[in-house]
Amino acid sequence: MESLLEQYAGIVGHEVIDHLRQLAGPLKGMKILHVNSTKEGGGVAEILNRLIPLKRELGIDAEWEIVTGDKDFYQCTKKMHNSLQGNRDDISPSLLETYEKTNVHNYERLRDKLLGADVVFIHDPQPAAMISHCSDRRNRWLWRCHIDVSRPYRPVWKYLREYIRQYDASIWSLSDFAQPLDQPMYLIPPSIDPLSEKNMALPEKEIKEYLRSFGVSRDIPVLTQVSRFDRFKDPIGVIESYRLVKKYVPVQLVLAGGGASDDPEGEQVLNEVKDFAGDDPMIHVLELPPDAHRAINALQRGSDIILQKSLKEGFGLTVTEALWKGKPVIGGDTGGIRLQVIDHFSGFRVTTPEGASMRIRYLLKHPEIRKTIGKNARQFVLENYLITRQLREYLTLVVGMVFGSEEKIELRMHER
Ligand code: UDP
Repeated sequence: MESLLEQYAGIVGHEVIDHLRQLAGPLKGMKILHVNSTKEGGGVAEILNRLIPLKRELGIDAEWEIVTGDKDFYQCTKKMHNSLQGNRDDISPSLLETYEKTNVHNYERLRDKLLGADVVFIHDPQPAAMISHCSDRRNRWLWRCHIDVSRPYRPVWKYLREYIRQYDASIWSLSDFAQPLDQPMYLIPPSIDPLSEKNMALPEKEIKEYLRSFGVSRDIPVLTQVSRFDRFKDPIGVIESYRLVKKYVPVQLVLAGGGASDDPEGEQVLNEVKDFAGDDPMIHVLELPPDAHRAINALQRGSDIILQKSLKEGFGLTVTEALWKGKPVIGGDTGGIRLQVIDHFSGFRVTTPEGASMRIRYLLKHPEIRKTIGKNARQFVLENYLITRQLREYLTLVVGMVFGSEEKIELRMHER
């Protein structure tokens, strides 16, 4: 069977894989340990699921461990997550005590691995406090932050910062998300995996079948937004944009989002969206299960234009996913959408339903421009936002940290 690296070479080209091999050369046999809090669910686990086998194929002794805890631990880390993203939510001393104790237990359980690794990547706040128990460590520890800490609730950030300060360096997704720290800070944006169910090529027949099953016709242009039902994603603004377009051209709208039953606000937003959509048969509000990756893939591929009209956004992986599928994206002018959607190149950034509707009409009227933008979009993701780029940056960082200026790597082009 084809190795993973070979499968990626089929997408990104052999040169990219050659470069990964060259970068990994000095790291052969080195132990790199990643620690987060879950093996499944969420973007971090999704990426680690691929990064670890890729590193291993490159000759690195990569391992992945998770920290575990009880209900109170997860309640605390959930609160921490929300407060770091701006919620003014104090965490009780007893919950913080659980956080600290759970980190001690996990440290004791993982001690040999944590101290035996050459480099340790700790992801997000859950396992962050383990570092305070290994003052005698000789290895390098990096804190990899996947969340937006641009406007944290200060008391919670101050608490966590005491741990983060002990790391050799930190890694952030976007400069806007970071807080100043007295340590080297690196920017490594997220990426998508082109081989995952969400992003792999799908047979045309399957795309058609999914659309048919959702009642979406392929004879009328399809606009789609895939998002949790969240006000920051502005689903109401999306419906307004669609209505403005519909005055001039027939069009359908798909609003696809996850089941909202465990999120009271999500359910409320979903109900508002359904009310606002009314009985318009051209608006398809789809509630999808969390593992509907192929369905989302098919919806994105079966659409003519993808919308991500967020009012506030993190990186916006749905945008990356759509661009990768060669779709022009009309996105809100915010967060990571600004990095990905470039006017007239990969789509358009907008702030109002009127602006969105103008851009939608323009793109619907000019299929050849849609095609060119779609091509640019795919190439842009190929060069910037695939997992191989993220791996290259992790490897470069590790080489730099471990060898300093001793190791000089000159990437060579191989004749083929
Ligand atoms: N997603 C999903 N099901 C849904 C809605 C979203 O699987 O019903 C996925 C989507 O494809 C993307 C991720 O969840 O991979 C959302 O990431 P993004 O950065 O766009 O937004 P967030 O939800 O993190 O604010």
